Amino acid sequence: MAVDLTFLGTGAAFPSRSRGASAVAWRHEGECWLFDCGEGTQTQVLRSALRAGKISKVFITHLHGDHLFGLPGLLCTVSLQCSSTSVKQPLEIYGPVGLRKYLRTCLGISQSQLNFPYVVHELIPTQDQCFPEEWRYPSDQKADDQLHPQEQQGKTIHLDPQENCYHLLDHKHFTVKAFKLFHRIPSFGFVIEEKERPGRLLTQKLKDMGVHPGPLYGKLKNGQAITLDNGETVFPMDVLEGPVPGRKICILGDCSGIVGDVGKKLCLDADVLVHEATLDDSQADKAKEHGHCTPKTAAEFAKSCKVKRLVLTHFSQRYKPASLINEGDDNVLELKTQAELILEGQEVTLAEDFLVLEIPSKKKPSNK
Ligand SMILES: [Zn+2]
Ligand SMILES: [Zn+2]
Repeated sequence: MAVDLTFLGTGAAFPSRSRGASAVAWRHEGECWLFDCGEGTQTQVLRSALRAGKISKVFITHLHGDHLFGLPGLLCTVSLQCSSTSVKQPLEIYGPVGLRKYLRTCLGISQSQLNFPYVVHELIPTQDQCFPEEWRYPSDQKADDQLHPQEQQGKTIHLDPQENCYHLLDHKHFTVKAFKLFHRIPSFGFVIEEKERPGRLLTQKLKDMGVHPGPLYGKLKNGQAITLDNGETVFPMDVLEGPVPGRKICILGDCSGIVGDVGKKLCLDADVLVHEATLDDSQADKAKEHGHCTPKTAAEFAKSCKVKRLVLTHFSQRYKPASLINEGDDNVLELKTQAELILEGQEVTLAEDFLVLEIPSKKKPSNK
């Protein structure tokens, strides 16, 4: 099953000619999930190989405009592009509390109607996610009780006190959890984890037992035991290779750090970690003061989680993509070097708009 990430916006604070505001699309089996939706995301989608109508879920890391201002426009465009007659599942949107009110206000004041239903599931942050003077949650962020005409009532998701994370969804092939980040306003990291898949059938062994290709193979592959004509029972574990481990992709919102240890545990052995690096290491104090990271902090986290590939993004607009650098410009490649120094030579990827990153299936059975 093909899984890939498309970077639609890799710049901090505002969109520019060379970097859009934050947005990353994650695709699998024709479905598309969007992580953040900064201003201009819908035009970035048009310039990419993605189709806006395929977006079925949106995850918002935090409520700063450079991660959110594109959402009402994107919803309206999707609505114009899809036929009004087809019955649609609600588009599911996950993000911090306040998101319902934001969408109701934007869509309500502009009298925007959508020809599909949507639902907003809100995460309730905790006070350790920002400085006390910036804490305004959740009291003044609650939406009025009046739903938008196309809105369905969403869930309110609280921190699971045992696991110290948020359980967002349990999809057929994937689970999504969130964990807390420290920023100017509460921000979250999302972990998409593919479920383990059954290994390959040992067909020669089955043939030797007199079991030939057919529906019985399907039953075994689905984990069911079968009984042969001679009364013998064949268990899946006897005729399947070890399970194929799933892929893990972690996409973090803006942050100057992770709250607690759970982020490290959730991101352990990730195939891809998408982490912000707004400024280079020489400006670490300024980055921290504004709630952001530098390559060193991002790489230290990646190293502690043993991630296989670190992708840096959310660059200050002063850092143009490597191919557009002119003499005298700040060099984004310095950020790559700074991160690779911490990762002792492991290659670090610098995100650019429209970069597509494939995440190949794992082939080897796990050692379980
Ligand atoms: Zn930002
Ligand atoms: Zn921010």
